[in-house]
Amino acid sequence: MRYEGAIYRPPSEARSYILQATIGCSWNQCVYCAMYREKTFRLRALEEVLADIDAAALATPAMEKVFVADGDALVMPLAHWEPILERLARRFPRLRQVSSYAMAWNVLDKTDEELRRLRELGLSLIYLGPESGDEPTLRRIAKSPLTALPGDGREGAPIFDAHVQAAQRAREAGMKTSAIFLLGAGGVERSGAHAAGSAALATAMNPDYLAALTLTVVPGTPLADRVDEGRFALPDQAGLLGELRTFVAEARPKDALFRTNHASNYLPLAGRLPQDGARMAEIIDAALAGGVRLRPEWARGL
Ligand code: SF4
Repeated sequence: MRYEGAIYRPPSEARSYILQATIGCSWNQCVYCAMYREKTFRLRALEEVLADIDAAALATPAMEKVFVADGDALVMPLAHWEPILERLARRFPRLRQVSSYAMAWNVLDKTDEELRRLRELGLSLIYLGPESGDEPTLRRIAKSPLTALPGDGREGAPIFDAHVQAAQRAREAGMKTSAIFLLGAGGVERSGAHAAGSAALATAMNPDYLAALTLTVVPGTPLADRVDEGRFALPDQAGLLGELRTFVAEARPKDALFRTNHASNYLPLAGRLPQDGARMAEIIDAALAGGVRLRPEWARGL
């Protein structure tokens, strides 16, 4: 199996075969993100990807889950997705899940028929990362090309709505969805609005899975420049826990599995939302009062 550059995947894909079908992220502009800055986005040659699948199947024929990388692999056209999904199904007889990261516009740029076709062929879960539901925060972190394509009719479209539509269209095609939010993305200035807006977007997206990560300011990113210039300040630990508390107390999806098990978080939580929201809020209150051990800084990761 050949990989180019660093590979990222959600924590829940730790036991999956990671298939690198694209290199980098087709957007690559989110101001906090350093994951693919050294990569120029491209589709990997199809024959290379299919050869990787064949090699992986020889090594791990009983694999049940595949995560298709890199940053927004759903952007691939059907001409790539179809042979990849067909080959995965043929080579891994026990396959039960294929997933990828997706930006909202990757979903919106596909027709309902294309989304249904992807689901039929095995793409069963997409990870959408709106990071925030607060529109000013979404625009400040440059979360979407919807803000940056003047003249295509979408430049003023609310990014909040785009994520709701993307989640709805993926669900209607039969896919499961996971939505990821980023504590601290609004900075100190929009902390409260970011937390409340994120809970509102989690409710409106109504995903099957929800996750919260904690923002880390990475040197070399535009966000780090803003910090240096005094234009952005990350909330302190109590502020970040306060955002998490607002989120678990206010998010009302129908029934979503919620986790904060990512290494960036101070407080690992797991439960279902909305059912376990009050219980998780109590744990956060105990942590804010000093009664729960938090992950130390040295143990946190991106
Ligand atoms: S869409 Fe994801 S991978 Fe791409 S720049 Fe934004 S955070 Fe990074």
